[in-house]
Amino acid sequence: MSQDVKSGKILSPATPWTDRGVPGIHMPDEQQVLKATFTEPTIECPECHALVTRTAMSFNAYVCPQCDEHLRMKARERLNWFFDQVKMELGQEFKAKDPLNFVDSKPYPERMAEAQKKTGETEALVVMQGVLKGVPLIACAFEFDFMGGSMGSVVGDRFVQAAERAIENKQPLICFAASGGARMQEGMLSLMQMARTSAAIQKMKEAGLPYIVVLTHPVYGGVTASLAMLGDVHIAEPKAMIGFAGKRVIEQTVREKLEEPFQRAEYLLDHGVIDQIVHRHALRDTVYRIVAKLMNLT
Ligand SMILES: [Zn+2]
Repeated sequence: MSQDVKSGKILSPATPWTDRGVPGIHMPDEQQVLKATFTEPTIECPECHALVTRTAMSFNAYVCPQCDEHLRMKARERLNWFFDQVKMELGQEFKAKDPLNFVDSKPYPERMAEAQKKTGETEALVVMQGVLKGVPLIACAFEFDFMGGSMGSVVGDRFVQAAERAIENKQPLICFAASGGARMQEGMLSLMQMARTSAAIQKMKEAGLPYIVVLTHPVYGGVTASLAMLGDVHIAEPKAMIGFAGKRVIEQTVREKLEEPFQRAEYLLDHGVIDQIVHRHALRDTVYRIVAKLMNLT
């Protein structure tokens, strides 16, 4: 009759040898194994379904280490990753109102409060001023999880302010676009932001300052029809979907099946809509090189 060295229990001859303690070797108990699993949250890659820890994903700029799929980055995380040093955040004084008292399945303020709670952001656009490889610039990023990154009047206000500040400081402006389009809850006021942002970009062009757009998955509707397609250079991330109307709507209109990669960045590059597709790991270098060239810094 043998005795387990760890628990001191008497082992029956039927106990498998894998369950027996070995002198001098630490055997973690079940509780510890479970704890170790649950303290490290993981993200599942939507493409290859690999489970990657959040820390590993964050270090890899949310690119799947197994299949190279570019996962969505949160706006704030994106800007913190993009800049070497963030100086300050702009546009936080603009707060959303409900000018139309809009109610669909829920009142607009309630929907807004939910989005704020979910994302921790006050609106769908985050603007920051900072330094990239020694070049001071302004960059803004759309938060897609905030009501589909839709453009309402606050997004317009923040974008226009970013452009004005860029002109004032003689700095380039970079926009990371990811949006479903204009915000229907603000009706016409939302559509007006297309004209406002376009006018602000025109002022940047008149001032001779670069405006660069990075199209991330997905960009649609009023944002494509205005600020996302008015850059001096259009860069897209691999496989990003970019368009005005969605694929299904076009299929129903033209009564034709549209095969992959329709509306993907690769398809748009082939058809001359965008300038280049850049892997996220090369994005900072690419933007820096373009900005340095356009600003005659090299
Ligand atoms: Zn993957």
